[in-house]
Amino acid sequence: MEAHELRNKYGPRELRARLEAEGFPRTTLSFYRYVRLADPAALRNELYAEWEAMGVFGRIYLANEGINAQLSVPTHNFEAFRKAIDARPEFSGVPFKIAVEDDGKSFLKLTLKVRQKLVADGLTDAVFDVSNVGQHLDAEAFNRKLEEGALVVDMRNNYECLVGHFEGAYLPKAETFRGAIDEVVDMLRKQPAQVPDQGTGSVDPPGRPTTTEQPEILLYCTGGIRCEKASAWLRHHGITNVGQLHGGIIDYARQVRAKGLPSRYKGQNFVFDGRLAERITDDVVSTCMQCGQPSDRITNCQQHTCNMLLVQCEACATTYADCCTPSCREIHLLPEEVQREWRKGKPSASAKMKAIRDPEALRKRIAEEEEELAEKGTLHPELIAVMPVPQHPQ
Ligand SMILES: [Zn+2]
Ligand SMILES: [Zn+2]
Repeated sequence: MEAHELRNKYGPRELRARLEAEGFPRTTLSFYRYVRLADPAALRNELYAEWEAMGVFGRIYLANEGINAQLSVPTHNFEAFRKAIDARPEFSGVPFKIAVEDDGKSFLKLTLKVRQKLVADGLTDAVFDVSNVGQHLDAEAFNRKLEEGALVVDMRNNYECLVGHFEGAYLPKAETFRGAIDEVVDMLRKQPAQVPDQGTGSVDPPGRPTTTEQPEILLYCTGGIRCEKASAWLRHHGITNVGQLHGGIIDYARQVRAKGLPSRYKGQNFVFDGRLAERITDDVVSTCMQCGQPSDRITNCQQHTCNMLLVQCEACATTYADCCTPSCREIHLLPEEVQREWRKGKPSASAKMKAIRDPEALRKRIAEEEEELAEKGTLHPELIAVMPVPQHPQ
C-alpha cells in the first residue's frame, strides 16, 4: 500500500458523525515501551494498515527508542488487537493501561507519527544510563511508601496537575520536562537531611551524628513513561532512593478500583483526548480561575486564536461565554463570518497546550476589561474595519 493512503482523509465533523453512528462500544487504552526500533517509518506504515483494519483510533508515536500509544479499539476487536501486539517481538507482553472512565469517544481517527524521541524531554541520553531507572511500584506499595513519609513528585506538565494530583505532591512550576527535572534536582538538594522522628519534639542530643539519609522520592506521571527518564536522570545525579508509579495514574486508578484501596490521588486525571480529564475521586482540588470558587471543570477558551486552558466553573462559563476574558468573549460572540474576517492574518493558537498560570492576574485583567467595556462599548476598536458597514438611507 502507498504511504499516502495510510492517513485519515476526513474532516472533524464527518469523523464525529461516523463515530456517533458506529453502534458498538470502544475500549480506550494506552501503552508504551522503550525498545530499539530499527526502522520506525516502515513499522509505522505496517501498523497503520494493520490497526486501521481493526478500527483502531488514537494517537501513537514511534521513535528509534520505542513506542508511546494512546488509542481506542472496538471492544469486539480487543482480543485480536492484543494478539497482534503480542505477535510482534518488540511489543510482545507490553502492559495495557485501560481507561477507567470511558465513553469510547476519546479519539476520532488514527494518527501514527514518527518522532525523534517519545517524550520531548530535552535530556541528552548519551550522558546518562537511561536503563538505570527507579524501583517500579504498584498502587499498594506506592500508598505504603506515602504513609511512611516519602516525598512525592508530580512529573507531568504543569497544566496537567491543575485538577488532580497526589496528596501533598510537589508540583514543579517549570514549563518543560527538562525545566521540571532540573527544578526537582534543585529542590531535593535543598531538602534538609531526614532526621528520624524522636516523637518527643526535643532537640537531638549533642554529639549525635546528623543522619544524611536521603528521603525516599516517589515519582508519578500519567502513564509511567516520563518517570522512566526522570528516575534515571535523578539517579544519575546521585539521588538514588527513587521509586516510580508503575503504569502511572491510569493504572493506579484501575488497581485502586479493582482492589478496593484508598485513592491517595485526589480529583481528576488530565488526559490527552477529547475528554480532557477523567475523574478518579470526587475531591475538588482546584478553584475556578475566574471567580475563585471551588471547581475542577477544565476547559479551553473557545475563542480560536486564544484556546488557553483554564479551570472555569459553570457560572463563569455562562458569564464569559466559555472564554477566558471579556476580550475573548467579545470576539467569540460575533457572527462566525465576522470572526473569520477578524482572525485573518492573526496567528492561530499554538497546538501546544498552554494554561493560564496566574489566576490572580487573570482576575485583575477581567475587572479592568469589564470596566473598559462598560466605558467604551468595545474592547476591539479594530472591529470597525471588519464589521459590515451599516446601510444608511441617503
Ligand atoms: Zn467561576
Ligand atoms: Zn481566551
